[in-house]
Amino acid sequence: MERKQCAATNARGQPCAATIVLSSGYCRAHDPAYAEDRRRSAARNGMTARDPELAEIKRGLKRLTDRAEAGDVDHERIDLLVRVARARVYTIKTDSEIARHALEVRELEDAYDRLLSDYEALRDGKPTTIGTGGWYLRRGAEE
Ligand SMILES: [Zn+2]
Repeated sequence: MERKQCAATNARGQPCAATIVLSSGYCRAHDPAYAEDRRRSAARNGMTARDPELAEIKRGLKRLTDRAEAGDVDHERIDLLVRVARARVYTIKTDSEIARHALEVRELEDAYDRLLSDYEALRDGKPTTIGTGGWYLRRGAEE
C-alpha cells in the first residue's frame, strides 16, 4: 500500500510528517478546506487565555494578598476590593461565554449552509463544495 504524506511543509520548511492524509493531499491541520475551522478554534482558545483585564485583576489580587499578609490592614476595604474583583471576573466570563456562543451559532449556520448547498449539488448532479463526496461524507469516512 502506498504511504501517503501531507503535501504541506512545516514551520521549519520540512515536509509535514502527518500520515493521515485527506483526499485533498493534505492532513487535517494543513487542508485549506479546514482553514476557517482552524482560525475559529484559535480565536476561541485565545479569547479567555490572555485577557489583559484578567491579568490586571490577578495582579491586583496579588497586591491585596501581600498587603493582607503584611498585617495592619483595613479588612473591610480588602473585602470590598475582593468582591469588586470577583464581580469583574464574573462579567468577563459572561462576555466570553456570549462571544463563544455567538461563534458557535455562526459555525452551525455555516455548516448548515454547506450541507444545504452540498445536498442541492448532489441532488442536481453538480460538484459539491469539496469534491464529489461532500465534506460531511468524507469526514465520516476518514475520521
Ligand atoms: Zn500536514
